[in-house]
Amino acid sequence: MSMSGLPVVKITNISKVFRMGDNELKALDDVSLDIEAGDFVAIVGPSGSGKSTLMHMIGILDTPDAGIVAIDGHSISGLDDDALSKLRARTIGFVFQQFNLLARTSASENVGLPMLYSGAPYDKTWAKKVLGAVGLGDRTDHTPSQLSGGQQQRVAIARALVNKPAIVLADEPTGNLDSQSERDILDILVQLNRAGITVVIVTHEAEVTQVARRVIRMRDGRIVSDERQEPKYIDGMKVQDQDLTQSFQLYDAPMPELTPGLQAQLRKARSYSSEALRSVTSNKIRSFLSILGIMIGVAAVIAMLGLGEGAKKSMENELSGLGSNLLVVWAGSSRTGLPGGGNPVRLYPDDVTALKSELNNVTALAPNVNGKAMVQFEEKTWNTSITGTTTEYVTLRSFVPDIGRNFTSEEENSRARVAIIGRTIVKNLFGDKDPIGAEIRINRIYFQVIGILPAKGSNGWQDRDDTVIVPLETAMRRVFGYETIQSIDIQVDKPENMPNVESQIKSMIQQRKRLSDEKLDDAVTVRNMADIQAAISSTNKIMSLLLSIIASISLLVGGIGVMNIMLVSVTERTREIGLRKALGATKLDILSQFLFEAALLGIIGGGLGVTLGWGTAKIAAVFTNWPFDVSPTVVAFVAGITAFVGIVFGFWPAKKAAALQPIQALKHE
Ligand code: ADP
Ligand code: MG
Repeated sequence: MSMSGLPVVKITNISKVFRMGDNELKALDDVSLDIEAGDFVAIVGPSGSGKSTLMHMIGILDTPDAGIVAIDGHSISGLDDDALSKLRARTIGFVFQQFNLLARTSASENVGLPMLYSGAPYDKTWAKKVLGAVGLGDRTDHTPSQLSGGQQQRVAIARALVNKPAIVLADEPTGNLDSQSERDILDILVQLNRAGITVVIVTHEAEVTQVARRVIRMRDGRIVSDERQEPKYIDGMKVQDQDLTQSFQLYDAPMPELTPGLQAQLRKARSYSSEALRSVTSNKIRSFLSILGIMIGVAAVIAMLGLGEGAKKSMENELSGLGSNLLVVWAGSSRTGLPGGGNPVRLYPDDVTALKSELNNVTALAPNVNGKAMVQFEEKTWNTSITGTTTEYVTLRSFVPDIGRNFTSEEENSRARVAIIGRTIVKNLFGDKDPIGAEIRINRIYFQVIGILPAKGSNGWQDRDDTVIVPLETAMRRVFGYETIQSIDIQVDKPENMPNVESQIKSMIQQRKRLSDEKLDDAVTVRNMADIQAAISSTNKIMSLLLSIIASISLLVGGIGVMNIMLVSVTERTREIGLRKALGATKLDILSQFLFEAALLGIIGGGLGVTLGWGTAKIAAVFTNWPFDVSPTVVAFVAGITAFVGIVFGFWPAKKAAALQPIQALKHE
């Protein structure tokens, strides 16, 4: 605290001009003023005479166009915004006519705010003590809307005192109050002054002027008189009856120590988080609408990633189960990539026999035909796909029945009516009953169930358990009436023999069917697992690329939504920003506060999006039997990205907020 008698405010020849279009208005015209430490000064004068402007200069909320301002021995010229904020936080407590408390924030939190910016720990006990000193010890948890005007102004005074400033400035502090509240406020100011605090008050009212020891009159931006007086107290003021030596008890109590570095930063982070949460939740619908873009984008990405990832995994499982030396030959073009396209060659059983006997380096071979058929058991029917093939098929495709058995060569040759059924057929036709040995009908023909295929799940576009396997000729002659074979699985003894076997197959078919070189590719296709894997992974690459494009666009759109709402939020809270700066917040403090809010919006949008996308895909997976798989890494990554999007798109609005000048912001309507 400054010693009595020294100038705590030294103002020399300052001017302030406001320009409104072509008009120039000299709000302060060459004003000089010294205020000694411990004085009680009242500034009076008609409205528009420059009182508030002078007060803002003393409170370094604004800077003069010309002249020098020195506060507590520090000249303010050359200090940047942040240095001014720090000086303000340490030396000056400001009380405004319009209280300027933060809404939805308790009295003690309002009082603690300047401590956040000065680096003192937010000590609730201390804030409560200061509230007690202004007679509000029993109102510490009330929010401004739960307090009367007089009480709100007392909270504002407590806030001005919380950092134990050397000077308290009050601009018409009683202008909006009834006479009882006016006396309460003046009581506090007088007691403060007796404790050694310099008090400067702007007022209209003669009554209020009486309590000061020095009265400065202004007119048209100039000081017209400056007189000392014996203070007189208004009837009903408590200080009248009290011992004049009694000081404001508060100033004898020790204030919490300043906390260094990290601890203070953590405390700020905590405060910004709860501030962000308060801001987001107090505008629930608006916040929700602003994050809708991010939410939908993330949901779409998660759902598609999950399904894509699941399909890829099950495809990889399927392929790895098949081994790397399997060749698939199918009748039809390789260009369409699907069986049956182009100008397919007609493959008969005797072609297969020829291949089997003439091909070298082949260990197993399974021709097959496929088609749709109606399967019935008792009263139940089910439409499914039927594969007619030979005994080797289940081994080649790692599809050996895990219940019951495969059919035998005898059954194959005698066109026996035996069937191996997949798990989906069991589930849909048999329920709890035992299928082995049961009679089912396929396209009205009776078959005996001899085995059940192992569960394979879905590969993304088909349920591989929704299938029935029967002997080749049974399917061709009895079920479908086919003459030709659609494809042949061929197992080669060693991977290095694959190219050789591939060309043997092609040349044999070309010879047997008398095909020209040009027609061969249209008539038959030979694929190995490496080809199929490559085709799948290139499809996956295209999928991922599309997904990233969708994700980027939706995050861009979502980010713009956040930016938009942050701009609105900054505009709406201009006064609050001005207030925070007046209480000592630096640019970084304001920037951080708004970035926390933007990041929070991003994270909430991401979180809801993950939940929505995950839920939707999970439900879709249950109904369609699609595989679905989302790794926690993906979720964490998405959360990080959305926070990042929030920060990137919140940066400009936050920077706008941080750049606001305290006094302009405070005057904002
Ligand atoms: P008062 O003595 O009533 O507190 P002020 O110091 O607020 O007066 O204002 C002094 C003069 O400056 C007034 O005429 C006012 O209209 C003008 N003024 C104050 N702030 C601004 C501003 N931001 N822009 C333009 N004119 C202003
Ligand atoms: Mg004013």
